[in-house]
Amino acid sequence: MSDDDVQDAGFDEWLDAAEEDAAYCLECPEGHASLPPRRVCPDCGATDLEETRLPDSGEIETFTVTHVPTPAFEEDAPYATAVAGFGPVRLTGQVVGADLETVETGLEVELEVSVSETTGERVLGFSPV
Ligand SMILES: [Zn+2]
Repeated sequence: MSDDDVQDAGFDEWLDAAEEDAAYCLECPEGHASLPPRRVCPDCGATDLEETRLPDSGEIETFTVTHVPTPAFEEDAPYATAVAGFGPVRLTGQVVGADLETVETGLEVELEVSVSETTGERVLGFSPV
């Protein structure tokens, strides 16, 4: 969904902020919210975007469970990838620190930035509040 964003340097700064519990979105005068990196509102083209803090917790809207068959990842699998709504924006990430049976729509979660053991890159995750 937003894989392109993850590879952008602007998103890296955003991950820095998220790690410090200061995740934000960009809001235009019309109230449209988007995630960095952006210079122009994707909805109306406004250029005076303001950083607005996201709420500390969000709510899982949808999720899918992935089963990884590789023995090397047996202990991590299966895992859930979720879309969670944080205030005006939606974020995608892996659910961490939760039993799969407890992952459900409406579950309250907070942002959790972790480092992928596979790629060494930081990834966005959610952990139950
Ligand atoms: Zn706008």
